[in-house]
Amino acid sequence: MQTVCYGERCITYDVEYVQRRTMAISVHPDMKVVVKAPLETSIEAINKKVLKRVRWISKQQDFFAQYHPKEASRQYIGGESHLYLGRRYRLRVISEGKGVKINGGNLIVSIRDSDTTKVRNMLERWYRQKATEHFNQSFQRCWKMFEELRLIPPKIVVKKLEKRWGSLAKSGTLTLNINLIKAPKACIDYVMTHELCHLLFHDHSKAFYDLLQRKMPDWERRKMKLEKMV
Ligand SMILES: [Zn+2]
Repeated sequence: MQTVCYGERCITYDVEYVQRRTMAISVHPDMKVVVKAPLETSIEAINKKVLKRVRWISKQQDFFAQYHPKEASRQYIGGESHLYLGRRYRLRVISEGKGVKINGGNLIVSIRDSDTTKVRNMLERWYRQKATEHFNQSFQRCWKMFEELRLIPPKIVVKKLEKRWGSLAKSGTLTLNINLIKAPKACIDYVMTHELCHLLFHDHSKAFYDLLQRKMPDWERRKMKLEKMV
């Protein structure tokens, strides 16, 4: 796999060496770029060709991107944007050191082997750790509003949920979607408060919404923000 950058836009591509006379670039529906090149073409020559077609490649990728769910089309390569607590960060993959950190507008993954599966795994572990940390902080903030009710505090669990932001089981386990870590704290608190209201009312009855309205008068604004965001 090769990467070539033009300003902020980086293109990662695979090369297939084939018996042909000219180079051909194609963009697949999964947004992968493949260059078919005559045997013995130098990488410099291929990079040059890719750079020449960068606008066309970007256009093709944007075309295919509209068919992907917003955040699912990530390839875990340098240059693409990733959300964290409501902000977009540019992914940088570097080979010095080990770990993930935020620096300015960059989300830096330090990993010796920049294989995209390894980058994804490292980033997912980091998101999970941050989700646990921030969801527990959100619980501390929101639980204060429920303390007077003398309820049994739920156990917070972080999971990948397909269709929901959160759920509360009658057993007292409050499950939150790991992807919520991509939303602003105000939205995390909204989902947390919504689920905590389910400790009293297990349905979405008027009594439930009355309670939610009392605990978080601006919940609708937060909900809209969340739906627009992720
Ligand atoms: Zn609900």
